[in-house]
Amino acid sequence: MLEIKNLHATVDGTEILKGIDLSIGAGEVHAIMGPNGSGKSTLSYVLSGRDGYEVTEGEVLLKGQNLLDLAPEERAAAGVFLAFQYPVEIPGVPNTTFLKEAVNAVRKSRGESALDAMQFLKVLRAKVKELGMSDEYLKRAVNAGFSGGEKKRNEVLQMAMLEPALAVLDETDSGLDIDALKAVADGVNALRGPERSMLVITHYQRLLDYIVPDRVHVLSQGRIIRSGGPELAKELEAKGYADIIEAAA
Ligand code: ADP
Ligand code: MG
Ligand code: MG
Repeated sequence: MLEIKNLHATVDGTEILKGIDLSIGAGEVHAIMGPNGSGKSTLSYVLSGRDGYEVTEGEVLLKGQNLLDLAPEERAAAGVFLAFQYPVEIPGVPNTTFLKEAVNAVRKSRGESALDAMQFLKVLRAKVKELGMSDEYLKRAVNAGFSGGEKKRNEVLQMAMLEPALAVLDETDSGLDIDALKAVADGVNALRGPERSMLVITHYQRLLDYIVPDRVHVLSQGRIIRSGGPELAKELEAKGYADIIEAAA
């Protein structure tokens, strides 16, 4: 599904990613863990095509298509969804309106017809119910005055509506209390499926108790220094990053 080959990227002329190789199969969930400043968010920004992140070498293929050739909105159309550490607020725009625009933009770029208001609401209500969310979210402006947990749940709803081929979640757990964390994890787990690959980026092991990944990769100074199964996350929790990084050096 996703193949990252020898990815190098710079920010303001400084090389941050120094040769990342990563393959995620269809239906798999991989976790990227690493200390602060190791390049985790840079990787998610590079995948999204954010301004200021320059790829100097390497390839990112999604179902064989090079994402690096595509503009950010074309990547979304190709099936990439990114949930960020700090979700944006859009005061004055009701959540329902935002979701409808987003879903129809992606449908249009895929050559599918737009959903009308009735069709859209039917799909939306079903997803909201499936995720155990309240209809209350839909009437409010996008993320405005939402608590941390509500913003994250809202991102899971956005993801559910866009049905991406690749979902990247960057520190979706940061600032969440345990109930919100479980709710978000339940939502993400509900979206696991054979047609969807996920990259879950997290500093802490806690999230991975609830979203159990197929593979765990440790990022340090822009390189993946170790990969393993879910037990690697437990080892990191027990030993700390310093030991693992030293052992890999
Ligand atoms: P993480 O998400 O793992 O905490 P980041 O990807 O945010 O790490 O940052 C990786 C490194 O890149 C850090 O050393 C950080 O200081 C540097 N960096 C990130 N953004 C910028 C920027 N806009 N300009 C310069 N350096 C940056
Ligand atoms: Mg950070
Ligand atoms: Mg980060």
